[in-house]
Amino acid sequence: MAKITIIGASTGGLPAAYEMKQALGSGHDVTVISNTETFHFVPSNPWVAVGWRTRKDISFPIRPCLSKKGINFIAEAAGKIDPVKNKVITVSGAVVPYDYLVIATGPKLAFEEIDGLGPEKNTVSICTVDHAEKAYQDYRKFLEDPGPVIIGAAQGASCFGPAYEFIFMLDADLRKRKLRKKVPITYITSEPYIGHMGLSGVGDSKGLFEHELRERHINWHTNVKIKKAEPGRMTIELLGEGEKQLPFKYSMIIPSFKGVDAVASVEGLCNPKGFVIVDEFQRSPKYQNIYSIGVSIAITPPEATPVPTGVPKTGYMIGSMASAAVYNIKSAINGDRPPAKAALNAICLADMGNTGIAFVAMPQMPPRNVTWAKKGKWVHLAKVAFEKYFIRKMKTGVSEPFYEKMVLEALGIRKLE
Ligand SMILES: Cc1cc2nc3c(=O)[nH]c(=O)nc-3n(C[C@H](O)[C@H](O)[C@H](O)COP(=O)(O)OP(=O)(O)OC[C@H]3O[C@@H](n4cnc5c(N)ncnc54)[C@H](O)[C@@H]3O)c2cc1C
Repeated sequence: MAKITIIGASTGGLPAAYEMKQALGSGHDVTVISNTETFHFVPSNPWVAVGWRTRKDISFPIRPCLSKKGINFIAEAAGKIDPVKNKVITVSGAVVPYDYLVIATGPKLAFEEIDGLGPEKNTVSICTVDHAEKAYQDYRKFLEDPGPVIIGAAQGASCFGPAYEFIFMLDADLRKRKLRKKVPITYITSEPYIGHMGLSGVGDSKGLFEHELRERHINWHTNVKIKKAEPGRMTIELLGEGEKQLPFKYSMIIPSFKGVDAVASVEGLCNPKGFVIVDEFQRSPKYQNIYSIGVSIAITPPEATPVPTGVPKTGYMIGSMASAAVYNIKSAINGDRPPAKAALNAICLADMGNTGIAFVAMPQMPPRNVTWAKKGKWVHLAKVAFEKYFIRKMKTGVSEPFYEKMVLEALGIRKLE
């Protein structure tokens, strides 16, 4: 009997656990270690931050769902991984042995890289549901005495979509409240141009996003390095133009991501940012029984940008990585060579309040076979429908081939080509 341990139970870890159990059956042991008892649907965080969703709407307890499927659950942070003795040690000292390990720990949010950044300091975040709730509290205070807003993504950031979503949602929400006239909005970003998104653009994302920002009187600065965020004042450096100070009463900045400490500290496992180096089979080249999926893996950007940016890891590809890891582990248990490679495609829906922009990049990295971005009300509706669909599937447990089937079903698309 093989022991498979999965660290993290979110967009990557939870479907991997279901799919692993489905693929391996009762003869093997699947254990999930998660530092949270609750699943949160991360893409809904921007909605929480404007009060369009609550934590309750987008969360559910993980344990009963896993227990129904015969999957063990340890609700504690993994503190250390010993890749030589094949064990994970939790923060309370519990030892969890494994034959195969799947790391799905997402990012560590590197607010500390910029003076004054983050929800403990002078800007808010939507990266976690806790942060999104705090962002909403601050937003409600801001509404009593509105003023300039800065939304953006810091140098080294890789997750640009939610920053765009949030700026459009905020614009829509302020309009509903008849407060938009009192709020100058500025988007600041490390991207070299609007719509780059760490991906050298998708379809005409540059033209589309510029148009949408202009239409809403939202100013922007690209190639931005944030120097510091003081109460009410952001100091930024613009490439070739020197420093500039921008006033704000409310600011949401997506930070740079790194790997979490328990993973980053394993010798030879990660790149300098703490992301797990994996081969085409989601497997560590150094420790062949360690796999990684989702935001925790290292992906080289398609191009060097003047201000550093990273590559986003999005839901569709994360699900595909989970499936690949499962089938490669199953093959390894059977003594076979790994058969499965993840489909690194990006299929994303960016909500804009009452409309939205959909992106398809296949593969995610250029040169691509398919690359388009399109705007329409249907995107907003599809995103709302997908949220409900995904949460329902995550509660009940899904079977393979998980993401491919689910995304295509939810969007009403049967065949992409
Ligand atoms: C605000 C936001 C909106 C997004 N919207 C979209 C979208 O609309 N579409 C899309 O395709 N992508 C979207 N993404 C990108 C991506 O799909 C998500 O970030 C996704 O949640 C990443 O999944 P993950 O499992 O890799 O990491 P995470 O979701 O971050 O999950 C990692 C899990 O591991 C846990 N963990 C961390 N360290 C430990 C430890 N030491 N021990 C145990 N557990 C640990 C964490 O608490 C967390 O539960 C969005 C990202 C963000 C931040």
